[in-house]
Amino acid sequence: MKDFNFYNTLTKKVEKFIPNEEGKVKMYTCGPTVYHYAHIGNLRSYIMEDILEKYLKYIGYDVKRVMNITDVGHLASDADVGEDKMLKGAKREKKTVLEIAKFYTDAFFADCKKLNIDIPEIIEPATNCIEDFINMISELLKKDYAYIAGDNVYFDTSKLDSYHVLSNQSEEELMVAVRDDVEEDTNKRNKNDFVLWFTKSKFDDQELKWESPWGVGYPGWHIECSSISMKHLGEYIDIHCGGIDNIFPHHTNEIAQSEAFVGHKWCNYWFHIHYLNDKTGKMSKSKGDFLTVSLLESKNYNPLIYRMFCLQSHYRKPLVFSYEVLDNVVSAYNKLIKRVGDLKDEGELDQAKVAEYTEQFTNFLGNDLNTASAFTVIYDLLKDDISDKTKLHLVKDFDRVLSIGLTNIDNNKIQEIDKDLEEFVTSKIEERNEARKRKDFASADAIRQELLDKGIVIKDSKEGTTWDLINS
Ligand code: AMP
Ligand code: ZN
Repeated sequence: MKDFNFYNTLTKKVEKFIPNEEGKVKMYTCGPTVYHYAHIGNLRSYIMEDILEKYLKYIGYDVKRVMNITDVGHLASDADVGEDKMLKGAKREKKTVLEIAKFYTDAFFADCKKLNIDIPEIIEPATNCIEDFINMISELLKKDYAYIAGDNVYFDTSKLDSYHVLSNQSEEELMVAVRDDVEEDTNKRNKNDFVLWFTKSKFDDQELKWESPWGVGYPGWHIECSSISMKHLGEYIDIHCGGIDNIFPHHTNEIAQSEAFVGHKWCNYWFHIHYLNDKTGKMSKSKGDFLTVSLLESKNYNPLIYRMFCLQSHYRKPLVFSYEVLDNVVSAYNKLIKRVGDLKDEGELDQAKVAEYTEQFTNFLGNDLNTASAFTVIYDLLKDDISDKTKLHLVKDFDRVLSIGLTNIDNNKIQEIDKDLEEFVTSKIEERNEARKRKDFASADAIRQELLDKGIVIKDSKEGTTWDLINS
Protein backbone atom coordinates (compact mmCIF):
# COMPACT_ATOMS: atom_id res chain seq x y z
CA MET A 1 0.00 0.00 0.00
CA LYS A 2 1.14 3.53 -0.85
CA ASP A 3 2.43 5.56 2.15
CA PHE A 4 0.09 8.21 3.45
CA ASN A 5 1.41 11.06 5.60
CA PHE A 6 -0.72 13.71 7.23
CA TYR A 7 -0.66 16.18 10.07
CA ASN A 8 -1.69 14.70 13.38
CA THR A 9 -2.95 17.31 15.86
CA LEU A 10 -2.09 14.91 18.68
CA THR A 11 1.64 14.86 17.94
CA LYS A 12 1.68 18.22 16.11
CA LYS A 13 3.57 16.83 13.15
CA VAL A 14 3.10 15.25 9.76
CA GLU A 15 3.25 11.51 10.35
CA LYS A 16 3.04 8.30 8.40
CA PHE A 17 -0.38 6.76 8.86
CA ILE A 18 -0.31 3.30 10.41
CA PRO A 19 -3.76 1.90 11.25
CA ASN A 20 -4.39 -0.39 14.19
CA GLU A 21 -5.42 -3.20 11.86
CA GLU A 22 -3.58 -3.63 8.57
CA GLY A 23 -5.56 -2.40 5.58
CA LYS A 24 -8.48 -1.14 7.67
CA VAL A 25 -9.35 2.33 8.88
CA LYS A 26 -11.81 3.22 11.60
CA MET A 27 -12.73 6.84 11.18
CA TYR A 28 -15.04 9.10 13.18
CA THR A 29 -16.37 12.50 12.12
CA CYS A 30 -18.17 15.08 14.22
CA GLY A 31 -21.42 15.68 12.41
CA PRO A 32 -23.45 18.87 12.14
CA THR A 33 -25.51 20.51 14.86
CA VAL A 34 -28.81 20.52 13.02
CA TYR A 35 -30.44 23.73 14.23
CA HIS A 36 -29.81 25.61 11.01
CA TYR A 37 -28.49 25.08 7.49
CA ALA A 38 -24.86 24.02 7.26
CA HIS A 39 -22.89 27.02 6.02
CA ILE A 40 -20.20 26.68 3.42
CA GLY A 41 -17.59 26.85 6.21
CA ASN A 42 -18.99 23.71 7.82
CA LEU A 43 -19.05 22.18 4.37
CA ARG A 44 -15.39 23.01 3.82
CA SER A 45 -14.68 20.63 6.71
CA TYR A 46 -16.96 17.93 5.28
CA ILE A 47 -15.44 18.28 1.81
CA MET A 48 -11.93 17.77 3.20
CA GLU A 49 -13.01 14.83 5.33
CA ASP A 50 -14.59 13.33 2.22
CA ILE A 51 -11.28 13.76 0.39
CA LEU A 52 -9.50 12.04 3.27
CA GLU A 53 -11.91 9.09 3.23
CA LYS A 54 -11.85 8.80 -0.56
CA TYR A 55 -8.07 9.00 -0.70
CA LEU A 56 -7.69 6.27 1.92
CA LYS A 57 -10.02 4.11 -0.17
CA TYR A 58 -8.18 5.08 -3.36
CA ILE A 59 -4.90 3.72 -2.02
CA GLY A 60 -6.63 0.53 -0.97
CA TYR A 61 -7.87 0.90 2.60
CA ASP A 62 -11.14 -0.53 3.75
CA VAL A 63 -12.66 2.46 5.59
CA LYS A 64 -15.42 2.24 8.16
CA ARG A 65 -16.63 5.72 8.94
CA VAL A 66 -19.15 6.96 11.48
CA MET A 67 -20.75 10.39 11.82
CA ASN A 68 -23.08 11.63 14.53
CA ILE A 69 -25.87 14.14 14.10
CA THR A 70 -25.98 16.57 17.03
CA ASP A 71 -29.66 17.01 17.82
CA VAL A 72 -29.40 17.66 21.55
CA GLY A 73 -26.96 19.01 24.16
CA HIS A 74 -24.79 21.44 22.15
CA LEU A 75 -25.15 24.69 24.06
CA ALA A 76 -24.54 28.19 22.75
CA SER A 77 -21.05 28.08 24.24
CA ASP A 78 -18.96 24.96 23.75
CA ALA A 79 -18.20 25.21 27.50
CA ASP A 80 -21.68 24.06 28.54
CA VAL A 81 -23.27 27.42 29.13
CA GLY A 82 -26.04 29.27 27.34
CA GLU A 83 -29.06 27.88 25.59
CA ASP A 84 -29.31 24.54 23.77
CA LYS A 85 -28.74 25.37 20.09
CA MET A 86 -31.55 23.05 19.01
CA LEU A 87 -34.00 24.86 21.25
CA LYS A 88 -32.85 28.15 19.83
CA GLY A 89 -33.57 26.86 16.30
CA ALA A 90 -37.01 25.54 17.33
CA LYS A 91 -37.97 28.88 18.89
CA ARG A 92 -36.72 30.79 15.86
CA GLU A 93 -38.94 28.76 13.56
CA LYS A 94 -41.79 28.05 15.96
CA LYS A 95 -41.40 24.31 15.45
CA THR A 96 -40.51 21.37 17.68
CA VAL A 97 -36.89 20.37 18.18
CA LEU A 98 -37.48 17.09 16.36
CA GLU A 99 -39.03 18.87 13.39
CA ILE A 100 -36.04 21.21 13.24
CA ALA A 101 -33.63 18.28 13.53
CA LYS A 102 -35.30 16.33 10.72
CA PHE A 103 -35.50 19.34 8.42
CA TYR A 104 -31.87 20.41 8.81
CA THR A 105 -30.50 16.87 8.76
CA ASP A 106 -32.21 16.35 5.39
CA ALA A 107 -30.94 19.74 4.21
CA PHE A 108 -27.40 18.75 5.22
CA PHE A 109 -27.57 15.51 3.24
CA ALA A 110 -28.96 17.38 0.24
CA ASP A 111 -26.01 19.80 0.41
CA CYS A 112 -23.58 16.88 0.69
CA LYS A 113 -25.09 15.31 -2.42
CA LYS A 114 -24.69 18.52 -4.39
CA LEU A 115 -21.07 18.80 -3.30
CA ASN A 116 -20.30 15.14 -4.14
CA ILE A 117 -19.62 14.43 -0.46
CA ASP A 118 -20.28 10.76 0.27
CA ILE A 119 -22.43 10.22 3.33
CA PRO A 120 -20.49 8.08 5.84
CA GLU A 121 -21.45 4.43 6.15
CA ILE A 122 -22.98 4.96 9.60
CA ILE A 123 -24.97 8.04 10.64
CA GLU A 124 -26.22 8.24 14.17
CA PRO A 125 -28.35 11.01 15.69
CA ALA A 126 -27.49 11.63 19.35
CA THR A 127 -31.11 11.24 20.44
CA ASN A 128 -30.99 7.59 19.25
CA CYS A 129 -28.31 6.72 21.79
CA ILE A 130 -29.41 8.14 25.16
CA GLU A 131 -29.14 4.73 26.84
CA ASP A 132 -25.55 4.34 25.62
CA PHE A 133 -24.65 7.76 27.03
CA ILE A 134 -26.24 6.89 30.38
CA ASN A 135 -24.21 3.65 30.53
CA MET A 136 -20.97 5.45 29.78
CA ILE A 137 -21.66 8.19 32.34
CA SER A 138 -22.57 5.56 34.98
CA GLU A 139 -19.24 3.86 34.37
CA LEU A 140 -17.35 7.17 34.64
CA LEU A 141 -19.08 7.84 37.98
CA LYS A 142 -18.22 4.33 39.16
CA LYS A 143 -14.57 4.86 38.21
CA ASP A 144 -14.63 8.17 40.07
CA TYR A 145 -13.91 10.26 36.99
CA ALA A 146 -17.24 12.05 37.40
CA TYR A 147 -19.19 13.78 40.16
CA ILE A 148 -22.65 15.20 40.75
CA ALA A 149 -22.98 18.88 41.60
CA GLY A 150 -25.96 21.22 41.44
CA ASP A 151 -27.93 18.23 40.13
CA ASN A 152 -25.75 17.87 37.02
CA VAL A 153 -23.12 15.20 36.34
CA TYR A 154 -19.63 16.53 35.54
CA PHE A 155 -16.38 15.04 34.32
CA ASP A 156 -13.56 15.70 36.78
CA THR A 157 -10.56 16.80 34.71
CA SER A 158 -8.32 16.89 37.81
CA LYS A 159 -8.38 13.06 37.85
CA LEU A 160 -6.34 12.90 34.63
CA ASP A 161 -2.55 12.95 34.34
CA SER A 162 -2.74 15.21 31.33
CA TYR A 163 -5.74 17.10 30.07
CA HIS A 164 -4.64 19.62 27.44
CA VAL A 165 -3.27 17.00 25.11
CA LEU A 166 -4.89 18.31 21.97
CA SER A 167 -3.99 21.94 22.28
CA ASN A 168 -0.84 23.93 22.75
CA GLN A 169 -2.70 27.00 23.89
CA SER A 170 -2.22 28.37 27.39
CA GLU A 171 -5.04 27.85 29.87
CA GLU A 172 -5.87 31.52 29.65
CA GLU A 173 -6.26 31.35 25.87
CA LEU A 174 -8.37 28.24 26.20
CA MET A 175 -10.79 29.97 28.50
CA VAL A 176 -11.07 32.98 26.22
CA ALA A 177 -11.88 30.63 23.37
CA VAL A 178 -14.91 29.23 25.16
CA ARG A 179 -16.12 32.08 27.33
CA ASP A 180 -18.32 33.57 24.64
CA ASP A 181 -19.82 36.20 26.95
CA VAL A 182 -21.91 33.78 28.95
CA GLU A 183 -21.84 33.13 32.66
CA GLU A 184 -19.53 30.50 34.18
CA ASP A 185 -21.00 27.37 35.72
CA THR A 186 -20.21 27.58 39.44
CA ASN A 187 -20.95 23.87 40.04
CA LYS A 188 -17.67 22.88 38.40
CA ARG A 189 -14.89 21.83 40.75
CA ASN A 190 -12.23 22.69 38.19
CA LYS A 191 -12.75 25.24 35.48
CA ASN A 192 -12.15 22.74 32.65
CA ASP A 193 -14.64 20.20 34.01
CA PHE A 194 -17.53 19.63 31.67
CA VAL A 195 -21.10 18.43 31.81
CA LEU A 196 -21.87 14.79 31.07
CA TRP A 197 -25.54 15.02 31.95
CA PHE A 198 -27.75 17.99 32.75
CA THR A 199 -29.92 16.39 35.42
CA LYS A 200 -31.70 19.52 36.42
CA SER A 201 -32.40 21.07 33.11
CA LYS A 202 -31.25 24.66 33.09
CA PHE A 203 -34.18 25.53 30.88
CA ASP A 204 -37.78 25.14 31.89
CA ASP A 205 -38.74 24.85 28.26
CA GLN A 206 -36.10 22.20 27.33
CA GLU A 207 -38.17 19.97 25.06
CA LEU A 208 -36.15 16.79 24.94
CA LYS A 209 -35.59 15.18 28.35
CA TRP A 210 -35.01 11.59 29.39
CA GLU A 211 -35.16 9.54 32.59
CA SER A 212 -31.74 8.75 34.02
CA PRO A 213 -30.34 7.36 37.30
CA TRP A 214 -29.77 11.02 38.23
CA GLY A 215 -33.23 12.30 37.40
CA VAL A 216 -34.84 13.65 34.27
CA GLY A 217 -32.45 15.52 32.00
CA TYR A 218 -30.39 15.47 28.84
CA PRO A 219 -26.80 14.69 27.82
CA GLY A 220 -23.90 17.10 27.46
CA TRP A 221 -22.50 17.53 23.96
CA HIS A 222 -19.10 15.83 24.25
CA ILE A 223 -20.35 12.47 25.54
CA GLU A 224 -22.25 11.78 22.33
CA CYS A 225 -19.19 11.54 20.10
CA SER A 226 -17.23 9.28 22.47
CA SER A 227 -20.20 7.02 22.98
CA ILE A 228 -21.38 6.86 19.35
CA SER A 229 -17.85 6.21 18.19
CA MET A 230 -17.42 3.32 20.63
CA LYS A 231 -20.83 1.89 19.81
CA HIS A 232 -19.89 1.42 16.16
CA LEU A 233 -16.10 1.33 16.04
CA GLY A 234 -15.12 -0.25 19.36
CA GLU A 235 -12.45 0.81 21.88
CA TYR A 236 -9.82 1.83 19.34
CA ILE A 237 -10.16 4.21 16.45
CA ASP A 238 -7.60 5.33 13.89
CA ILE A 239 -8.69 8.80 12.77
CA HIS A 240 -11.00 11.37 14.32
CA CYS A 241 -11.86 14.51 12.34
CA GLY A 242 -13.48 17.90 12.62
CA GLY A 243 -12.89 21.60 12.14
CA ILE A 244 -10.19 23.26 14.27
CA ASP A 245 -12.79 24.84 16.54
CA ASN A 246 -13.52 21.31 17.73
CA ILE A 247 -9.97 20.85 19.07
CA PHE A 248 -10.84 22.54 22.32
CA PRO A 249 -12.90 21.86 24.29
CA HIS A 250 -14.85 19.24 22.29
CA HIS A 251 -12.12 16.86 21.14
CA THR A 252 -10.00 17.41 24.22
CA ASN A 253 -13.01 16.42 26.32
CA GLU A 254 -13.77 13.45 24.10
CA ILE A 255 -10.25 12.15 24.72
CA ALA A 256 -10.56 12.75 28.46
CA GLN A 257 -13.80 10.83 28.91
CA SER A 258 -13.09 8.09 26.34
CA GLU A 259 -9.67 7.20 27.74
CA ALA A 260 -10.98 7.36 31.32
CA PHE A 261 -13.72 4.95 30.21
CA VAL A 262 -11.62 2.41 28.28
CA GLY A 263 -8.45 2.77 30.35
CA HIS A 264 -6.09 3.07 27.36
CA LYS A 265 -5.26 5.30 24.42
CA TRP A 266 -8.33 5.72 22.24
CA CYS A 267 -7.54 7.45 18.93
CA ASN A 268 -4.14 7.67 17.24
CA TYR A 269 -4.65 10.39 14.61
CA TRP A 270 -6.57 13.66 14.79
CA PHE A 271 -7.35 15.43 11.53
CA HIS A 272 -8.51 19.07 11.70
CA ILE A 273 -9.55 21.48 9.00
CA HIS A 274 -8.90 25.20 9.29
CA TYR A 275 -11.64 27.80 9.01
CA LEU A 276 -13.41 29.22 6.07
CA ASN A 277 -13.47 32.92 6.88
CA ASP A 278 -15.46 35.80 5.53
CA LYS A 279 -14.54 39.47 5.77
CA THR A 280 -15.44 39.51 9.46
CA GLY A 281 -13.58 36.32 10.44
CA LYS A 282 -14.72 32.73 10.98
CA MET A 283 -17.98 31.93 9.26
CA SER A 284 -20.38 30.68 11.94
CA LYS A 285 -24.05 29.84 12.24
CA SER A 286 -24.45 31.86 15.42
CA LYS A 287 -23.43 35.07 13.64
CA GLY A 288 -26.54 34.63 11.51
CA ASP A 289 -24.92 36.09 8.42
CA PHE A 290 -23.61 33.04 6.61
CA LEU A 291 -23.49 31.55 3.14
CA THR A 292 -25.18 28.32 2.16
CA VAL A 293 -25.05 26.05 -0.86
CA SER A 294 -28.58 27.13 -1.80
CA LEU A 295 -27.52 30.76 -1.75
CA LEU A 296 -24.63 30.00 -4.11
CA GLU A 297 -27.03 28.11 -6.37
CA SER A 298 -29.43 31.05 -6.37
CA LYS A 299 -26.52 33.13 -7.69
CA ASN A 300 -26.02 30.53 -10.44
CA TYR A 301 -22.93 28.85 -9.03
CA ASN A 302 -22.69 25.11 -9.50
CA PRO A 303 -21.97 23.73 -5.96
CA LEU A 304 -19.02 21.79 -7.41
CA ILE A 305 -17.36 25.14 -8.11
CA TYR A 306 -17.29 25.64 -4.36
CA ARG A 307 -15.80 22.17 -3.89
CA MET A 308 -13.07 23.03 -6.39
CA PHE A 309 -12.55 26.39 -4.62
CA CYS A 310 -11.87 24.48 -1.38
CA LEU A 311 -9.53 22.01 -3.05
CA GLN A 312 -7.40 24.80 -4.49
CA SER A 313 -6.05 25.60 -1.04
CA HIS A 314 -4.53 23.53 1.74
CA TYR A 315 -6.91 22.28 4.43
CA ARG A 316 -4.60 23.41 7.24
CA LYS A 317 -4.64 27.04 6.14
CA PRO A 318 -7.44 29.52 6.70
CA LEU A 319 -9.40 30.14 3.52
CA VAL A 320 -11.06 33.48 2.84
CA PHE A 321 -14.22 33.34 0.81
CA SER A 322 -14.81 35.94 -1.88
CA TYR A 323 -17.00 35.96 -4.98
CA GLU A 324 -14.05 37.27 -6.98
CA VAL A 325 -11.99 34.17 -6.30
CA LEU A 326 -15.05 31.98 -6.84
CA ASP A 327 -15.51 33.60 -10.26
CA ASN A 328 -11.93 32.71 -11.16
CA VAL A 329 -12.69 29.13 -10.18
CA VAL A 330 -15.77 29.21 -12.43
CA SER A 331 -13.64 29.97 -15.48
CA ALA A 332 -10.96 27.42 -14.51
CA TYR A 333 -13.67 24.81 -13.90
CA ASN A 334 -15.48 25.49 -17.16
CA LYS A 335 -12.22 25.27 -19.07
CA LEU A 336 -11.38 21.99 -17.42
CA ILE A 337 -14.83 20.52 -18.03
CA LYS A 338 -14.64 21.55 -21.67
CA ARG A 339 -11.19 20.08 -22.21
CA VAL A 340 -12.15 16.80 -20.58
CA GLY A 341 -15.48 16.77 -22.41
CA ASP A 342 -13.69 17.15 -25.74
CA LEU A 343 -11.59 14.01 -25.16
CA LYS A 344 -12.54 10.99 -27.26
CA ASP A 345 -12.20 7.53 -25.78
CA GLU A 346 -9.74 6.61 -28.55
CA GLY A 347 -6.20 5.37 -28.95
CA GLU A 348 -4.05 3.02 -26.90
CA LEU A 349 -3.91 3.14 -23.13
CA ASP A 350 -0.34 4.12 -22.25
CA GLN A 351 0.30 2.09 -19.08
CA ALA A 352 3.69 3.69 -18.41
CA LYS A 353 2.13 7.18 -18.47
CA VAL A 354 -0.75 5.99 -16.29
CA ALA A 355 1.77 4.78 -13.72
CA GLU A 356 3.85 7.98 -13.97
CA TYR A 357 0.92 10.36 -13.45
CA THR A 358 -0.69 8.21 -10.78
CA GLU A 359 2.62 8.30 -8.91
CA GLN A 360 2.61 12.11 -9.07
CA PHE A 361 -1.00 12.33 -7.97
CA THR A 362 -0.52 10.03 -4.99
CA ASN A 363 2.73 11.76 -4.04
CA PHE A 364 0.86 15.04 -3.68
CA LEU A 365 -2.16 13.65 -1.87
CA GLY A 366 0.00 11.32 0.18
CA ASN A 367 1.88 14.34 1.48
CA ASP A 368 -0.70 15.83 3.84
CA LEU A 369 -3.48 15.91 1.22
CA ASN A 370 -2.04 18.55 -1.07
CA THR A 371 -5.14 18.85 -3.22
CA ALA A 372 -4.02 22.03 -5.00
CA SER A 373 -0.92 20.30 -6.37
CA ALA A 374 -2.93 17.17 -7.20
CA PHE A 375 -4.94 19.38 -9.54
CA THR A 376 -1.82 20.46 -11.39
CA VAL A 377 -1.28 16.81 -12.36
CA ILE A 378 -4.57 16.92 -14.25
CA TYR A 379 -3.52 20.08 -16.09
CA ASP A 380 -0.12 18.55 -16.92
CA LEU A 381 -1.52 15.33 -18.31
CA LEU A 382 -4.09 17.17 -20.41
CA LYS A 383 -1.23 19.06 -22.08
CA ASP A 384 0.86 15.94 -22.61
CA ASP A 385 1.26 14.27 -25.98
CA ILE A 386 -0.58 11.09 -25.00
CA SER A 387 -3.72 9.40 -26.29
CA ASP A 388 -7.14 10.72 -25.35
CA LYS A 389 -7.86 7.29 -23.92
CA THR A 390 -4.96 7.62 -21.47
CA LYS A 391 -6.02 11.14 -20.51
CA LEU A 392 -9.62 10.11 -19.94
CA HIS A 393 -8.59 7.09 -17.94
CA LEU A 394 -6.40 9.19 -15.62
CA VAL A 395 -8.87 12.05 -15.20
CA LYS A 396 -11.68 9.65 -14.32
CA ASP A 397 -9.46 7.81 -11.90
CA PHE A 398 -8.33 10.99 -10.10
CA ASP A 399 -11.89 12.28 -9.96
CA ARG A 400 -12.77 9.29 -7.76
CA VAL A 401 -10.99 11.31 -5.06
CA LEU A 402 -11.42 14.94 -6.14
CA SER A 403 -15.06 14.39 -7.13
CA ILE A 404 -15.64 17.60 -9.05
CA GLY A 405 -17.75 15.92 -11.68
CA LEU A 406 -15.12 15.19 -14.33
CA THR A 407 -16.38 11.66 -14.85
CA ASN A 408 -19.80 12.19 -16.30
CA ILE A 409 -19.68 15.39 -18.23
CA ASP A 410 -22.91 16.33 -19.83
CA ASN A 411 -22.56 17.42 -23.48
CA ASN A 412 -25.39 19.93 -23.07
CA LYS A 413 -23.45 21.48 -20.25
CA ILE A 414 -20.38 21.83 -22.48
CA GLN A 415 -22.44 23.49 -25.19
CA GLU A 416 -23.85 25.82 -22.57
CA ILE A 417 -20.35 26.66 -21.33
CA ASP A 418 -19.21 27.25 -24.92
CA LYS A 419 -22.15 29.55 -25.56
CA ASP A 420 -21.68 31.53 -22.34
CA LEU A 421 -17.96 31.85 -22.94
CA GLU A 422 -18.46 32.95 -26.53
CA GLU A 423 -20.94 35.62 -25.43
CA PHE A 424 -18.71 36.83 -22.62
CA VAL A 425 -15.53 37.09 -24.70
CA THR A 426 -17.34 38.71 -27.65
CA SER A 427 -18.77 41.41 -25.40
CA LYS A 428 -15.34 42.02 -23.85
CA ILE A 429 -13.73 42.32 -27.31
CA GLU A 430 -16.40 44.83 -28.34
CA GLU A 431 -15.83 46.79 -25.14
CA ARG A 432 -12.10 46.80 -25.88
CA ASN A 433 -12.63 47.95 -29.48
CA GLU A 434 -14.74 50.84 -28.20
CA ALA A 435 -11.99 51.80 -25.76
CA ARG A 436 -9.38 51.68 -28.53
CA LYS A 437 -11.53 53.89 -30.73
CA ARG A 438 -11.63 56.43 -27.89
CA LYS A 439 -7.82 56.01 -27.62
CA ASP A 440 -8.39 54.84 -24.03
CA PHE A 441 -5.54 52.34 -24.19
CA ALA A 442 -5.42 51.86 -20.41
CA SER A 443 -8.97 50.43 -20.42
CA ALA A 444 -8.23 48.36 -23.54
CA ASP A 445 -5.16 46.84 -21.84
CA ALA A 446 -7.12 46.21 -18.67
CA ILE A 447 -9.69 44.20 -20.65
CA ARG A 448 -6.94 42.17 -22.34
CA GLN A 449 -5.47 41.45 -18.90
CA GLU A 450 -8.89 40.54 -17.44
CA LEU A 451 -9.31 37.96 -20.20
CA LEU A 452 -5.78 36.69 -19.74
CA ASP A 453 -6.47 36.19 -16.02
CA LYS A 454 -9.36 33.99 -17.05
CA GLY A 455 -7.11 31.96 -19.34
CA ILE A 456 -8.22 33.65 -22.57
CA VAL A 457 -5.74 35.13 -25.00
CA ILE A 458 -6.77 37.59 -27.74
CA LYS A 459 -4.96 38.24 -31.01
CA ASP A 460 -5.38 41.31 -33.23
CA SER A 461 -4.96 41.07 -36.99
CA LYS A 462 -6.09 42.90 -40.10
CA GLU A 463 -9.19 40.70 -40.14
CA GLY A 464 -10.13 41.67 -36.62
CA THR A 465 -9.66 40.24 -33.13
CA THR A 466 -9.74 36.51 -32.45
CA TRP A 467 -9.44 34.62 -29.19
CA ASP A 468 -8.32 31.29 -27.84
CA LEU A 469 -8.07 29.45 -24.53
CA ILE A 470 -4.53 29.26 -23.18
CA ASN A 471 -3.22 25.67 -23.30
CA SER A 472 -6.18 24.35 -25.26
P1 AMP B 1 -21.41 22.41 13.84
O1 AMP B 1 -22.58 22.15 12.94
O2 AMP B 1 -21.34 23.80 14.36
O3 AMP B 1 -21.35 21.39 14.97
O4 AMP B 1 -20.11 22.23 12.97
C1 AMP B 1 -19.94 21.19 12.01
C2 AMP B 1 -18.50 21.11 11.56
O5 AMP B 1 -18.11 22.32 10.88
C3 AMP B 1 -17.49 20.95 12.70
O6 AMP B 1 -16.50 20.02 12.30
C4 AMP B 1 -16.88 22.33 12.86
O7 AMP B 1 -15.59 22.27 13.40
C5 AMP B 1 -16.86 22.79 11.40
N1 AMP B 1 -16.83 24.26 11.22
C6 AMP B 1 -17.55 25.19 11.88
N2 AMP B 1 -17.30 26.44 11.39
C7 AMP B 1 -16.38 26.29 10.39
C8 AMP B 1 -15.71 27.19 9.48
N3 AMP B 1 -15.95 28.49 9.49
N4 AMP B 1 -14.83 26.67 8.60
C9 AMP B 1 -14.59 25.33 8.56
N5 AMP B 1 -15.19 24.42 9.37
C10 AMP B 1 -16.08 24.88 10.29
ZN1 ZN C 1 -17.99 15.50 18.08
